[in-house]
Amino acid sequence: MTMNRRQFVYAAAAGSVGLSRAASLLAADQYDIIVKGGRVIDPSLRLDGIRDVGIAGGRIAAVEANLAGAAATTLDARGKIVVPGLLDIHTHAARVKDGPTLCLADGVTGFIDAGSQGADRIQETIAVAKSAPQAARVLLNIGRAGILPDGDTMDLARADVGAARDAIAKNRDIIAGVKARLSRDVAGANDYEVLKRAEEVTTPFNLPVMIHMGQTMTPIGKIMDLLKPGDIVTHMFAPPPNSIIDDNGRIVPEVLAARRRGVWFDLGNGRTGHLRWDIYDKVMKAGFWPDTFSTDWTPEGRTVQVIDFPNVMSKFLDHGMSLDQVIACATRNASRVFDVFRDRGTLNVGAPADVAVLELRQGSFEFVDNFEGKRTGRQKLFPSRTILAGKLLPPRA
Ligand SMILES: [Zn+2]
Repeated sequence: MTMNRRQFVYAAAAGSVGLSRAASLLAADQYDIIVKGGRVIDPSLRLDGIRDVGIAGGRIAAVEANLAGAAATTLDARGKIVVPGLLDIHTHAARVKDGPTLCLADGVTGFIDAGSQGADRIQETIAVAKSAPQAARVLLNIGRAGILPDGDTMDLARADVGAARDAIAKNRDIIAGVKARLSRDVAGANDYEVLKRAEEVTTPFNLPVMIHMGQTMTPIGKIMDLLKPGDIVTHMFAPPPNSIIDDNGRIVPEVLAARRRGVWFDLGNGRTGHLRWDIYDKVMKAGFWPDTFSTDWTPEGRTVQVIDFPNVMSKFLDHGMSLDQVIACATRNASRVFDVFRDRGTLNVGAPADVAVLELRQGSFEFVDNFEGKRTGRQKLFPSRTILAGKLLPPRA
C-alpha cells in the first residue's frame, strides 16, 4: 500500500475506500520513519537496548521493541547505536556559512556558537545561526571586536558592558549568554576584570557566562569564585598555569565548590592549548568527570584533532566512563545547560525527532590531544545518519 495518510483521507472522503479498510489503513501507515533494530541508548530514559524508534509529524512517536505498523521510510539500524541528536555547547559553527550543515552531518542537531563575535559584528554569527537547520544559539564575546589574534580584551576598553548589554537586548531570541576568554594571550592581566564585566552584562538578563579557562594570570580559585550557578567552564583539561588540578593530583577546592553550586564543566576539545593527556588522566582519575563534551568546532578542526563530535566523544571511552555516560554528556547533560535544548537530548515520546545514528567500531584508533600527544583507543564512534525534526538526511558524502 503506497497511499499516504493525506491521500487516504482524500480517498476515504471520496467514498472509494470502505470503513473497515479505512481503520486498517490508518494503523498500517502510522509513522513517517521507523529506525529499526538499533541499540538505542538514551540516558534521559535510562534506556540501553535493542528498540525501534517510530517518528511521526516531526516528533518521537514510539520507542519499542518490534514496533508494529508501517512507515513511509524504514532505516535499518541493526548493528548501530541510536541516540538522541547530539548537542554541542561550544562550537564556532556560525563563523562560516556551511558550518551548521557540516555539523549536522556529524549528528549534531543543536549547537552553540561560543563567542565567535562580539557586539560590533554579532549580526554576522546571528545570521548564520538563524539560517541553521538545527537548533542554534550564539554566545556574545565580551570583547566587542570578537576573537582577535592579539587578544580579544588585551585592551580592557573592548570589554564594553554597555555595548554588550545593548547587543543582547536587541537579540534576546538568539543570544544565549556571554563568552569570556581569559587566557594570558587573550586577556593578559585583565582576565579578572573581564570576567567581572561579563557577569555584570549577563546578570540582569539571567543568562550564563562561559569562561575559556587555562593559562590565566589570575589563580583559578579566584576566577571560580566569580562564577554563578549555570555558568560554564570550558577547556577543563587545560594544562598549567592554573589548571583545575594541582601538582598533588587534587582538584582545586574552589573548583569543587563551583560544581556544587551548579557551575558546569565542559571539555572544549579545540586545537591549541586546551587538552593535554597528562592533565586529562589526572582529572579523570580524581573522578572529576565532565558534565558536557564539546568540540570547539572550526572548519580547520575537521581534519585534525577534532574531526567530528563522535570522535571527540570517543576520547572518553576506555577511560572509566561507560558508553551510556559518554552519550549522556553529549545529549541529556547538554540539554540542561541552555534553554534552547530543554526539550531535546531525549527520545522521549513527544520530543522533537532529532536522532543521531552512530557506529561503534572496535579496532585500534589514534586520538590526539592539543600538544601532538597520541594515544590509542580500542573503540571509536563514527557518525552514520542524522534525523532532524523527523526528516532523514541523506547519507554523508
Ligand atoms: Zn572556542
